[in-house]
Amino acid sequence: MREETQAKKQIDAIKGTKDILPCEAGEWRRVEGVTKGIFELYGYRELRAPVFEATELFERGTGQTSDIVIKEMYTFKDKAGRSLTLRPEYTPSVVRSIIENRLYLQPEPMRYYYIGPMFRYDKPQKGRYRQFHQVDIEVFGEKDPAIDAEIIEMAHHLLKTLEVGETETLVNSVGCAACRPAYLRELRVEAQKVKEALCPDCQRKVIANPLRIFDCKVETCRELSRTFPQIINFLCAECEEHFKLFCSYLDLYQIAYRVEPHLVRGLDYYTKTAFEVISGKLGAQNALLGGGRYDDMMKQFGGPDICAIGFAMGMERLLSAVKPRVTKNSFLYFVYMGEESKKAAMGLARYFRENGIECLLEFKDRGLKNQLSRANKLEANWVLIAGEEEVARNRYQIKNMKTSEQKEGSREEILKVLLENK
Ligand SMILES: [Zn+2]
Ligand SMILES: [Zn+2]
Repeated sequence: MREETQAKKQIDAIKGTKDILPCEAGEWRRVEGVTKGIFELYGYRELRAPVFEATELFERGTGQTSDIVIKEMYTFKDKAGRSLTLRPEYTPSVVRSIIENRLYLQPEPMRYYYIGPMFRYDKPQKGRYRQFHQVDIEVFGEKDPAIDAEIIEMAHHLLKTLEVGETETLVNSVGCAACRPAYLRELRVEAQKVKEALCPDCQRKVIANPLRIFDCKVETCRELSRTFPQIINFLCAECEEHFKLFCSYLDLYQIAYRVEPHLVRGLDYYTKTAFEVISGKLGAQNALLGGGRYDDMMKQFGGPDICAIGFAMGMERLLSAVKPRVTKNSFLYFVYMGEESKKAAMGLARYFRENGIECLLEFKDRGLKNQLSRANKLEANWVLIAGEEEVARNRYQIKNMKTSEQKEGSREEILKVLLENK
């Protein structure tokens, strides 16, 4: 008895995950297609890494003290007792892949992109999922600040093509291993002074990694952090020059930007440039994409000393900001009566499909009138009627469902009409 009731219990999707239904998948494919096309225009190539990696990869790459690693990773032991993690972000996987496959020895420019699912045990809320999808691009081996500006220009090119509308670009420099320690000392001193007023999380961060206080979403912490010293005033000569040139290249592209001195990004590995593009439409959760430089990561992973820069963009958020396009498949619906007509229709559908025409042939026993109303409901573009008489003569009728125009002909003649009106 118990087994029976269990078998009948409905199983739902896991909290924080979501089906992308057929009515939405078309728009996903369109946006993904436009995105890939634009990245290829700038010399980027797709690199597909696995969905799970050794946990250590993210501890080292994303950073031991980042919120992602501390609170949000899907970490589990596999059957051999290894600690694995569903990737919470893409960058560490790319860096691992480059080192492992020695991609830096290839003659191609090292520009990569990827679109796929990421996993974070985040608090599920509107528009935020535990399995979410990211567009990710990375460039390796270009230290010139022109590339920092070019990837932002590429992002704007994409957003404009997708008709995203109003956006704002925020930029900052987070310094480097040479100039950041002095800033962190100063920051720690200032944070210490107001420690009691910070949330418990931030109180811990004062010592461990005070930069992370800027990521806190608690309002009192946000307000206090606005009074903290700004890293932009602590940059070494090299970082300052890099930032100055980067801004001048943005001017060259005529991209309006605002210097946001507390923009440090939620990850430990950034150096020099950090940026975000935010949308005017999306309210509080308004960052469309964010990224920056991480010149030291490759070295930290035991690879060669190659600098890098990239950005990640949330697909769900992007989709909520783009101007949607209704894309409908154009197809031919078959209407037939009786077994002989059905067989003829099956052969015809095979012929048309081989020639690139989408055909829908349903095998329910419906009357002629019912089949026609079904074609209407499905919004078929064409209907082909294969009645006994048509089959006997090997000539068929097609009807354009929009114009009600009818045509008669052999299968070759009909194919011609369908291809011309595709
Ligand atoms: Zn520096
Ligand atoms: Zn806080």
